[in-house]
Amino acid sequence: MTPIPSIDQGPRPAAPADDGERGAPERFDGSFTQQEPIPEDAIARAVDLMRTGRLHRYNTGPDETSEAVLLEQEFAAATGARYALAVTSGGHALSIALRAVGVGHGDRVLTNGFTLAPVPGAIASVGGEPVLVEITDDLVIDLGDLAAKARASGARVLMLSHMRGHLADMHALTALCRDLDLTLIEDCAHTMGAAWGGTPSGRFGQIGCFSTQTYKHINSGEGGLIITDDAEAMARMTVLSGSYMLYARHEAGPPPETFDGIRLETPNCSGRMDNLRAAILRPQLARLDAQRDRWNALYGRVAGALGSCPEIVLPNRPRAETYVGSSIQFRLPALAAPAIERMIARCSARGVDLKWFGPADPVAFTSRHVSWTFVPPQSLPATDAILAQLIDMRLPLTFSVDDCNQIARIIIDEVRRASGDTETALTEKMKQAEGVPA
Ligand SMILES: *Cc1c(COP(=O)(O)O)cnc(C)c1O
Repeated sequence: MTPIPSIDQGPRPAAPADDGERGAPERFDGSFTQQEPIPEDAIARAVDLMRTGRLHRYNTGPDETSEAVLLEQEFAAATGARYALAVTSGGHALSIALRAVGVGHGDRVLTNGFTLAPVPGAIASVGGEPVLVEITDDLVIDLGDLAAKARASGARVLMLSHMRGHLADMHALTALCRDLDLTLIEDCAHTMGAAWGGTPSGRFGQIGCFSTQTYKHINSGEGGLIITDDAEAMARMTVLSGSYMLYARHEAGPPPETFDGIRLETPNCSGRMDNLRAAILRPQLARLDAQRDRWNALYGRVAGALGSCPEIVLPNRPRAETYVGSSIQFRLPALAAPAIERMIARCSARGVDLKWFGPADPVAFTSRHVSWTFVPPQSLPATDAILAQLIDMRLPLTFSVDDCNQIARIIIDEVRRASGDTETALTEKMKQAEGVPA
């Protein structure tokens, strides 16, 4: 039998290939990064469009409405927003939103201490300085710390990241923003199709920003969408997105006279969405609610199984929250870092890809605030303690419910084994301690 390493031995590169007493452990064969194909109707539309050659959003024939405009109109209708704008990425959406509400060089912007790197990146891109706010065990912004940091920093803008699809109490949060006179911009990269109390995410702030990058909820490779009811902000973002003097063709935007005082003073920061991407997104947007239900069936299955394991702690999902379970997060409070690292290596050897927010060096998409050395260093003890235990796993729609059962079995098996290792090592240490004369 392969010896089980004690917690003092540090990380192991891979799990033992075979384990005599346990028999060959079951292995999952699916891919955690494999998305579904683009729907056939979307492919057909894209092929038709390529035959015309008119891929640029302003390259329309007489009486033709571009795919980009149609997507904007449909997204505005789906979210109930007055205006919508399609751009090249979620990150570009965030940076032009900040610029449109007046964030400039040296301005402080509040944001979650737990988010993805393009969020502090967007703040840095306009010369702003991120002020990082603690999160709670449920992975949402801590409202007490938000109020304290807003007062202490003098920041006028909150860029709220609904990181990994977890929504804060949006009624309490918007009331707090009103009290603190904070302009709210929502980063909805993981909440397209989500809602709080029935109101779509992205509709609580002055501006809502979305991503259509491959790993989000609709897939155009890269892409972003912005919604707002604010005519002036949308006029600025339209020019910022690179509208040249063709802003009147933004039929999902404000009327042309809104641009009068804006069109010449606002820089063109080219970031338009093209018709090809818009064409493949429109049929996906139409299916978003059905996709959410499919994601939540997978999420429910994994969460139900993991929730039965006492070592695993899942974040609460409040009743008011309609979420899209495209990924799942859980904490392992009883395990020390080496045991977590070993558990992840063993899961990986059994085909289950887990991400961890604990390691010193960022891996792939997973990074935390201490790695963003372009941001002034900040002390976030609560967030750091949570991230040290936090595991993250994607749930692509190519998985079946049976796949989810198997994945959950493997995780529980390895978490139990890692906890057993920890207990064994602790008992050994205690025995050793007892044996040493005082
Ligand atoms: C993906 C993501 C973004 C940025 O989206 P891109 O389209 O990749 O620029 C912003 N915030 C969060 C939380 C994300 O996950």
